[in-house]
Amino acid sequence: MCLAAACASASSPARRLSPSTALPRRFLHSLLGAPTRPSPPPPPLLRRCFKFYHMAQYWTQPSLDRNKALVEYLKQYGAVRTDKVAEVMETIDRALFVPEGTPYVDSPMPIGFNATISAPHMHATCLELLKDHLQPGMHALDVGSGSGYLTACFAMMVGPEGRAVGIEHIPEIVASSIENVQRSAAAPLLRDGSLSFHVTDGRLGFPDAAPYDAIHVGAAAPEIPQPLLDQLKPGGRMVIPVGTYFQDLQVVDKNTDGSISIQNDASVRYVPLTSRSAQLQDP
Ligand code: SAH
Repeated sequence: MCLAAACASASSPARRLSPSTALPRRFLHSLLGAPTRPSPPPPPLLRRCFKFYHMAQYWTQPSLDRNKALVEYLKQYGAVRTDKVAEVMETIDRALFVPEGTPYVDSPMPIGFNATISAPHMHATCLELLKDHLQPGMHALDVGSGSGYLTACFAMMVGPEGRAVGIEHIPEIVASSIENVQRSAAAPLLRDGSLSFHVTDGRLGFPDAAPYDAIHVGAAAPEIPQPLLDQLKPGGRMVIPVGTYFQDLQVVDKNTDGSISIQNDASVRYVPLTSRSAQLQDP
């Protein structure tokens, strides 16, 4: 589900659980130009007209403009901090990865099979944490790749000389992630093979393209799976939610001598990294 609740920076280990309902409202206000300070309400009929006018303005914008507005909001909110992350999130249109619902609201959305595409602020947070390990030519692994959105971003960042691998254990989700990417700006990378998706148990990683400069895990593990640590390159970084009910987004750095350093970035709420049967049983 990736219902992330916080976006603290890696250097700040303080836990913040912000109310997830507050974000969409602030987001809508920033998009629709709603007043930040309340003014006296207009009469009901006029009120409905204003609302329709603002909504019409918003919904008739072309899709990519609305995606850009989402990234603009994430910049104001502090989740997008660099041009590099803004650029990739503007290039990969979130609407192509959200099968139903409102793609440009800062909230997770269902993608079927008890899975969700993560909230945009969580995508931004993970991209910011990993950006130095997503340079052109580098190798990236996205575990629990779901909609394929982040894998596509990784592929754009590492480019055709690099490798971006998405692994996911539900075959139907993998099939739709491939369709999503085929309609996106990352399609040429899928065709040339520098971006690929595979049906497999993410807890085992994907040794074929290891070692990885960057590993992202999109579902919460009770503890960091050893195969993922083994497949991380010295100097590489993994971002992984760890825990069951209470989860921390951990930033795991493998030092050049092979030792491991771990920092807690934020308290989060993700679906579990689990077996296929356990995931499909959960309501
Ligand atoms: N980053 C993705 C997150 C999808 S939700 C996105 O934003 O679209 C997490 C995904 O992890 C789900 O699609 C779920 O099916 C997958 N998952 C859970 N356990 C897994 C496992 N053991 N192996 C592979 N994928 C797993």
